[in-house]
Amino acid sequence: MRLGSEAEKDLKQILGSEGEYSLDPSDLSHFGKDWSGLVDPNPSVIVFPKTTAAVARVMKYCFERKIPVVPSGGRTGLSGGAIAAQGEWVLSLSKMNRMEKVDVLSRTVRVQAGAVTEAVHDHCRPKGLTWPVDFASKGSSQVGGNIATNAGGVRVIRYGNTRNWVLSIQAVQMDGTVLELNGDLEKNNTGYDLRQLLVGSEGTLAVITEATLKLCPLEENVEVGLFRCRDLSQVIELFQATRVAGFPVMAFETLSAACLSESTKFLNQAAPFSLEGWGAQGFVVLCEAMNADGLLVHEKWVEFLESGLAEDAVVAQNPKQKSEFWALRESVAEAVFAGTGHGVHAGAWVYQHDVSVPIPSLTDFSKKLLAKYAADYPEFEIFLFGHIGDGNLHVFIRSKPAAGLTKEEFVQRCKSSDQHLFKFIQDFKGSVSAEHGIGLLKKNALPYSRPAHEIALMKGIKKAFDPSHLLNPGKLL
Ligand SMILES: Cc1cc2nc3c(=O)[nH]c(=O)nc-3n(C[C@H](O)[C@H](O)[C@H](O)COP(=O)(O)OP(=O)(O)OC[C@H]3O[C@@H](n4cnc5c(N)ncnc54)[C@H](O)[C@@H]3O)c2cc1C
Repeated sequence: MRLGSEAEKDLKQILGSEGEYSLDPSDLSHFGKDWSGLVDPNPSVIVFPKTTAAVARVMKYCFERKIPVVPSGGRTGLSGGAIAAQGEWVLSLSKMNRMEKVDVLSRTVRVQAGAVTEAVHDHCRPKGLTWPVDFASKGSSQVGGNIATNAGGVRVIRYGNTRNWVLSIQAVQMDGTVLELNGDLEKNNTGYDLRQLLVGSEGTLAVITEATLKLCPLEENVEVGLFRCRDLSQVIELFQATRVAGFPVMAFETLSAACLSESTKFLNQAAPFSLEGWGAQGFVVLCEAMNADGLLVHEKWVEFLESGLAEDAVVAQNPKQKSEFWALRESVAEAVFAGTGHGVHAGAWVYQHDVSVPIPSLTDFSKKLLAKYAADYPEFEIFLFGHIGDGNLHVFIRSKPAAGLTKEEFVQRCKSSDQHLFKFIQDFKGSVSAEHGIGLLKKNALPYSRPAHEIALMKGIKKAFDPSHLLNPGKLL
């Protein structure tokens, strides 16, 4: 859809020196989609405001003319939340990336929503502090996107989700009203917490323009170990022992043997231990833990190995090795995607799920799921990995090139398999989206995790913020 010349003239005027816009086809394609890659983008224009006032003016203009708007962060989302496929205006926050001085006394930092997650970490490090929202896409994702998705990541087991680390939010409603939510108050019991309502709202309630983030001390003296486990049930036994070992656990992550094979190929890195005799049921665990109170993590890990809680283990000996171990885990998503049409497996596609079930049910749930896929969907390759310490599994499905499916046929097959997956999740009292959100791609899954009366309440909230349904339309609800 093209932007008319009248609207372009208005946009120029509204933005003045406080923003830019682009109609360049490569920008329209780049900024109109996220990582999921299954829906083609088709935005009318990409707007890059530089100030909150400019955001407010653009939103008001769109509100008055009933133009739908899609807020866009780093576009690392995996549920299609930032896709603009229906001629919407995309509001990219990427030029709003200013970060203020770290406030050491209150342990906070004020940033604009377009600040990149990793840039916030770098900004706070010299003060010995960090914003503990951390995952593989931190080099591209933005604070606004992290808040809008209530991002999880690799440190949730220690720090919890993004929502715990947001003190205040500035946001703009569809009609241009600017909200300042919660001031910079740690304690503020004055009614509904609208700030928390925006966390995880996936750009459907308001556009986040700034936030004050809570910080915590950087933790040092951490050890990183990799464990080779026979199967998922051994992973859970290892986790149980880790839970009661007495040292603080910073991360407890897992990847299946198939994922390890993809990431070693992708990184051109050797496997960390001998994989001889390791079956397809195998899993690797990455554990990061902190030496504390005279308790040496690696001594405990030796005990674990001796008592049969893992088949093999290696402990990183230096910072370089620590990052190599982490790379094996963090590159899985990219490695599985890299094995599609762009590279080794031309003609293959990826469809992904991000689910959670109560930790004690993980083994039974996975067994049931894998058996179903193997029996009814032999054209799928399944990759299981994720934040196992939070009960969170990423289930990536890739089409086998030999099956020769078109993208449309593959998506259709995946959608047919979804009903089984969602039903299993419901049976195990899990969630159809642990951390990536519902976006565009998981909308039909929502009723499996949220009852009709809760969805009706959510629709009421949406209506209160955005009665004309112009903000990120068609997403989440
Ligand atoms: C390799 C890889 C690993 C990942 N690992 C994790 C992980 O471990 N944990 C996890 O939780 N996620 C993970 N993700 C998903 C993704 O990185 C997160 O959801 C992230 O928080 C999205 O941020 P973003 O800036 O890229 O948002 P986008 O993808 O741009 O947008 C996501 C949603 O937020 C909305 N939005 C964006 N900015 C704003 C704003 N300023 N105001 C209002 N709404 C806005 C969009 O409309 C959209 O609905 C991963 C993704 C990749 C590619």
